[in-house]
Amino acid sequence: MSATTPTSSRAHTSARDQTRELLFDIIRSGGSVTRTDLVDATGLSRSTVNNAVTRLMEMGRISETEIGPKGPGTGSGRAGNVLSAVAAGSHVAGIDFGHTHISVAIADSLGSVVAETSAPFGVDLQAMEALDTAADLLRSLSAETGIGDLAEVTAGIPGPLDAATGLVCSPTILARWVGLDPAAELQRRLGAHVRTENDAYLGALGERLAGAGRAHADFLYVKVSDGIGACPVLNGQPYRGSRGIAGELGHTQLPGRSEPCRCGRRGCLEAVVSSGVVREQIRVTHPGDPFALTAALQDLDDPPIRRVLDEAGRTLGGVLADLVSLLNPAALILGGELGTAGPSFVAGVRAEVDHRALAASADLEIRSAELGTRAELIGAVMHAAASIRR
Ligand SMILES: [Zn+2]
Repeated sequence: MSATTPTSSRAHTSARDQTRELLFDIIRSGGSVTRTDLVDATGLSRSTVNNAVTRLMEMGRISETEIGPKGPGTGSGRAGNVLSAVAAGSHVAGIDFGHTHISVAIADSLGSVVAETSAPFGVDLQAMEALDTAADLLRSLSAETGIGDLAEVTAGIPGPLDAATGLVCSPTILARWVGLDPAAELQRRLGAHVRTENDAYLGALGERLAGAGRAHADFLYVKVSDGIGACPVLNGQPYRGSRGIAGELGHTQLPGRSEPCRCGRRGCLEAVVSSGVVREQIRVTHPGDPFALTAALQDLDDPPIRRVLDEAGRTLGGVLADLVSLLNPAALILGGELGTAGPSFVAGVRAEVDHRALAASADLEIRSAELGTRAELIGAVMHAAASIRR
């Protein structure tokens, strides 16, 4: 026997596993998925799809429901039957650390949320306390739902994580978290296996699997909240970069601006465009009115508010235009509190990207995240659900 045979065999098995997982992800993402849909969506042969579907049914991970009588020309009649994913008994959890909040959710093994809760918290300056609070929120949710054992937990961190070590790795962004291993800290508190990812990465994953990104294999997700982070999705996969810190856009310096930034420099993008800054500007135009920064702002039909949002969108669009030219994405999906604050902000981004990106913006869809400010949390539970299958 040739020495290469075992390796070739393993490679073949791995390719088959990947095909099966790809098809499972499509079935799991919902809708009325048929075998024909799977062939159309993947370009795989019908026999490859049939083999993978048979294996997934043997594993108890999907079921097939007959819809209506067999029609003429449908052969075995299976082509039009609907495939659905079957949730296993185990549960997972997601944690989303924002700069000013912590959200947690418990979901079934397919990533469908069972319960979730959120609390305001100054995450940047109190690392250990933030980890304690996240664990407390999750324990409360476990008690409320009666779901004690978690098979996997994924936590999103609003700063750069070194892909090799899992440590928070910027001396200026999330300074109080530097050198911390949030996965190990949370694991100690929760007694469950915990993985960490950058928050924008999870937002992109959430939109890809359950939001506006389902329609696109190539898009750019940008979380615009108290901080700004981005994650490109290339060929269907969120991209981390060589060290795991791709997309740290918030500290791009804007020419001619001097606003002080938390990183110690002046004129950074997120010192000029963030939900906190925009809230302050709205407070100037409407002193005393406690406006929440939500899509409901648009309903006020208030020209000064629309101008503030449009201007913030244009400033961000000026930075995103170069990325649009570089990556030629099909869509620009804006998440976070500000990215989902309504059409004026999106229109501002559109105007500036159209002005600067020229050819690459022609067919570009620009929109708010379909999952709103929950994109990161949904991405976290879906990441955790995918992890228990590996
Ligand atoms: Zn900065």
